[in-house]
Amino acid sequence: MRIPFIAGNWKMNLTLSEAESFVKVVRNHLPVSETLETAIAASPLFLPSMVKLSKGSPLKIAAQNCFYKDAGAYTGEVSPLSLKDVGVSYVILGHSERRRYFHESNKMINLKALSVLKNGMSPIIGCDEKMSKIKSNNHMKWLDNPVSEALRNVKAEDMSRVMIAYEPSWAIGTGRAATKEEAEDGCYLIRTTISELYSPKVADQVRILYGGSVSHKNVADLMACPNIDGVLAGKASLNPDNFLKLLNYK
Ligand code: PGA
Repeated sequence: MRIPFIAGNWKMNLTLSEAESFVKVVRNHLPVSETLETAIAASPLFLPSMVKLSKGSPLKIAAQNCFYKDAGAYTGEVSPLSLKDVGVSYVILGHSERRRYFHESNKMINLKALSVLKNGMSPIIGCDEKMSKIKSNNHMKWLDNPVSEALRNVKAEDMSRVMIAYEPSWAIGTGRAATKEEAEDGCYLIRTTISELYSPKVADQVRILYGGSVSHKNVADLMACPNIDGVLAGKASLNPDNFLKLLNYK
């Protein structure tokens, strides 16, 4: 049974005081956690305070990236051990903006995913549509398979903690979301890939998300698709009212 998951990705937006007021507003209006899990991914600067303010509520706090080493001479990087220490639950890895602007490779994303899992958190691995999407006989195919590379050496027993986000780059921040059919096709391809890599049973446990111009207008249709277990929302998560509208999509 996969619990639906709706997360906001603030990217490099908001200030600490805006982040704190957001959590104070949202924490009292969240749907119960057995039916929906929710998180906000924020700047590392905001995380300790957001974790403290959300304590006791179903809102979980996520990071948007981290390095794969726990400590050492890596100037400017964020340690997964420090994220765990402040109480972060999830870490987004391999978002298409990380891949595009910071040249993150699948190999690097794989090392980070292993490290996030080792530290007891859940990775949310972004998967850009440039890597998929050839339609032949109505089936999607990979051009280049980012899922198997990102999951190298990830044990089957850890897979229930892994989430994969299908995020077509043309849909991110453009206001042009994938249709529910396109989003379902991408998520279905990811699930069949996990099934081939592990087993149908493992694939059945993994939550697969869609991201790219999600709003209160399309969230219900997306969430109703059989292989879409949740969404990652950027712009629509920046304001508490809009974020709560996403959570109350039913
Ligand atoms: P968007 O961003 O909702 O603003 O398109 C989504 C994402 O980058 O995850």
